[in-house]
Amino acid sequence: MKKLEKSLLDKNIPKEHIDIFLQWLNSLTDNEKQRILPEHLASKHPNLQEKARFLIYQAVHSKILKTNYEIYCPDCKELVNTVHSALNIPEKLICSKYHTFVPEDNLEDIIVSFAFIQNN
Ligand SMILES: [Zn+2]
Repeated sequence: MKKLEKSLLDKNIPKEHIDIFLQWLNSLTDNEKQRILPEHLASKHPNLQEKARFLIYQAVHSKILKTNYEIYCPDCKELVNTVHSALNIPEKLICSKYHTFVPEDNLEDIIVSFAFIQNN
């Protein structure tokens, strides 16, 4: 968290915004820590709306959060797989209802969320 705070100060984010962001991260329940969306931060703290995505990406750079690529079936919208790097998105997937699809051709069915890296 110290490293994240410093990197945000270096990026000229006001200290009060950094404090709100860090407090918000610390206030999340274990479940919420597994699926963080910038919209959650923005809706809780409307004054951070414009910065929410940037703040969260900085937390990824500081290795506090990781990126989740949630891959949903384009036919039935079932969550089929979650990977942590765009490079690991499979070429082809099949859901439990046997719909076969190519994730790259269905980018609107991939949702990017964030999760705490364990031991943080
Ligand atoms: Zn399906």
